[in-house]
Amino acid sequence: MGMASASVLTFWDGSVSERRIPFGGSSMQHGTAVFEGIRCYLTQDGPALFRLEEHLTRLLRSAALLGMAHDYGIERLEADVLAAAAASGLPRCYVRPALFTADPILSIDLSGTPFTLAVEVWPATSFRPPTAPPARLMISTWRRPSPATFPPGAKATGMYVVSALARTEAAKAGYDDAIQLDPESGRVAEASVANVFLVRGGRLITPWLTDSLLPGITRDTVLVIARKIGMPTVEEPVEVRDLLTADEVFLTGTASELVPVASIGDHDLPACRPVFDTLSRAFRQATTGLDFTGLGWLTPVRD
Ligand code: PMP
Repeated sequence: MGMASASVLTFWDGSVSERRIPFGGSSMQHGTAVFEGIRCYLTQDGPALFRLEEHLTRLLRSAALLGMAHDYGIERLEADVLAAAAASGLPRCYVRPALFTADPILSIDLSGTPFTLAVEVWPATSFRPPTAPPARLMISTWRRPSPATFPPGAKATGMYVVSALARTEAAKAGYDDAIQLDPESGRVAEASVANVFLVRGGRLITPWLTDSLLPGITRDTVLVIARKIGMPTVEEPVEVRDLLTADEVFLTGTASELVPVASIGDHDLPACRPVFDTLSRAFRQATTGLDFTGLGWLTPVRD
């Protein structure tokens, strides 16, 4: 995602530090941390975290799905994440809270290992520029894991090896990213680190959560915005051929926001994307507090 290197890591005791997580710690060695990526936008009233409560609720759900031992409730997480964002002094940033264990015993019993919070904050200036060309995707040969193998709702660091397999395969083949399929049904699940939408006949369609995908918060934001502006939306099974015959396809994720898709494999999609353009504008208004203000989506970051 190409972020600037000057990030700040705030530990559970409030100290700001260089990255000093023991190499031998269990989360480092086994991918057993859970995390969130949250954006801080600059609004008229100053910096604000977008959908903070939903992100922290998902963080706690990820920890619960993995059976982790920890002492965090939503209020404490919220206070610590806001404090880290404020301490960074950045008007726009990308904030990653992680519950991790540095336990050097290398236990993989996550219920018997205390997990603690660290929050890393990056300047958000180097994300995908608005002038970047629309993404060229392939269909990955790597499918998402079955829900019988890994709970799709858990955003755990180890799961990103699966995303990395898909993204690396795509990059090597000359694509920007890849669509990953549900392991059992073979339907469209999600992209390597983003959810997928398509538009057909004025309807906005996204794969239902029954298939193996992370319930993205940007996905939800787009669905809510679309309904509010009177666009018909539906969550339903999506086949690869539905993407290839769509009027528009786009991706959603906190870091990359809304990304238009130019092609899938050797199949070009229409270059005109009126629904994407409308939703992108509305999304920008929502994230900067100019519209959709009654939804409580922005939490101010105060010094
Ligand atoms: N799917 C995967 C696998 C992801 O890593 C992400 C990024 N968090 C998403 C979907 C999009 O989720 P969100 O909109 O909450 O960032």
